[in-house]
Amino acid sequence: MQWEQLTWADFRDAVAETETCILTMGVIEKHSDHLPLGTDTLNVHKIACMAAEQEPAVVFPPFYFGQIYEARCFPGTITIEPKLMLALLEGVLDEIGRNGFRKIIIVNGHGGNRHLIPFLAETTLWEQKSYSVYVAGRLTPEREEAWAAITDTDYHGHACECETSVSLANHPELVHMERVPDEPALPLGRLSHLPGNMSGAGWYANHPEHYAGDARTATAEKGQQLRELLVDTLVEFIAAVKADETLASLEEEFFEREDGLAR
Ligand SMILES: [Zn+2]
Repeated sequence: MQWEQLTWADFRDAVAETETCILTMGVIEKHSDHLPLGTDTLNVHKIACMAAEQEPAVVFPPFYFGQIYEARCFPGTITIEPKLMLALLEGVLDEIGRNGFRKIIIVNGHGGNRHLIPFLAETTLWEQKSYSVYVAGRLTPEREEAWAAITDTDYHGHACECETSVSLANHPELVHMERVPDEPALPLGRLSHLPGNMSGAGWYANHPEHYAGDARTATAEKGQQLRELLVDTLVEFIAAVKADETLASLEEEFFEREDGLAR
C-alpha cells in the first residue's frame, strides 16, 4: 500500500492492520549518461511497493533526500545541509510514528547512505520513541550467488549492469541505452596510496564521472530476475519485522535502566 494513494479511512485501517511503515531512501544524482537523476529513489520505492503487496505494509511516499555531497559538482543534484539532514530524517520518522506506526523499516537505495542510515538507527537510543526502527539488510549468501549468476560483469557500483537492468525492468522509458558509455568505468584509485582510508572524496576519487561498472550488457530480463531477488528478500524481512516484539521490549528495558540513573 502506498501512503499517498490511500484515503484517510483506508490509511487508518492500514496502520491498525500492519503497524509497519517502509521508508525508502534514494537521492537525486547523476547516474552516468544513460539513467535518470532519480534512479535510486525510483527503483527502491518500486521494489518496496512490490514487496508490500505480498507482505502488507504501508510505503512512505518517495523520499529523495540523503547523503550525496559527492555529486554536488554535477547538474541536478539535490543535497541538504548536513545538520538539517539528520533533523529532517528524525522529523520524518517522528511523523510516521505520530500517525500510529509502531515499526518503521528503512530500505536503502543509495550506496552513499551506507554510513548515514546505520547512524540514524543508532540515534534511536538517544531518546525513547513510540516506534522502533529496523534497517533492511543485504541479500543472503545464496541470493548473492544467484545475483552473480544472472550478471555478466563482475564490477558493479553505479549505473552499472545491475542498476541499469533493474531500471530497464522498472521504467524502460527513462533509460537511454544508446548513451551508455563505450568504455566500462573501473576505479581510478587516486587515493589508493592510503590503504584503508575513508575520506569524503573517496568515492569521487575512483569515479569522478559517477559511473562504476559496465552497463553495456544490461537487459530488462536480467533486471526482472535481479528485482525478484530484492523483492523476495524484502518480503521476508517485512514478515520478520511484523512478527518481532523483541526489539520494542529491549528498548523498553534499556530506557528503564537509563531512567534509573537519574534517581
Ligand atoms: Zn544509483
